[in-house]
Amino acid sequence: MPKKVSLNAKCPHCDKSFMDEENLLLGKPSIKLNIECNNNRGTIRLCSIYGCYDHFCDFDLKEGAIAKFFCPHCNKELISKDTCKSCDAPMIPLILQLGGKVLICSRKGCNNHFVAFEDLATEVRKFYHEYGF
Ligand SMILES: [Zn+2]
Ligand SMILES: [Zn+2]
Repeated sequence: MPKKVSLNAKCPHCDKSFMDEENLLLGKPSIKLNIECNNNRGTIRLCSIYGCYDHFCDFDLKEGAIAKFFCPHCNKELISKDTCKSCDAPMIPLILQLGGKVLICSRKGCNNHFVAFEDLATEVRKFYHEYGF
């Protein structure tokens, strides 16, 4: 399993990219989303490297709080019918540019942050094919 796969996520509603090329996390473009939690509204940036849980939010996210995520372009909520298998919080779907999606838990501090890949093997194969590894 390759170690540093950087994911390219986009909005399921308007199809625009979430990738922020100007704000890097671990040297890769970050995934930028609008976030709402306990009456705070701001911006969160998630590390795009698969398996990495680094992120930063421009307000203080309390441990254990459940947040809502919105597209920074069309402002529609990112929501799925899936719930986290370890904490029951709603899962946030991110559509990948190369197909498939990743679900992240909306609860801050949940260990199941990146919980499910739909067909990750295919996604990773396509990624390596595309970039010639
Ligand atoms: Zn959108
Ligand atoms: Zn969870």
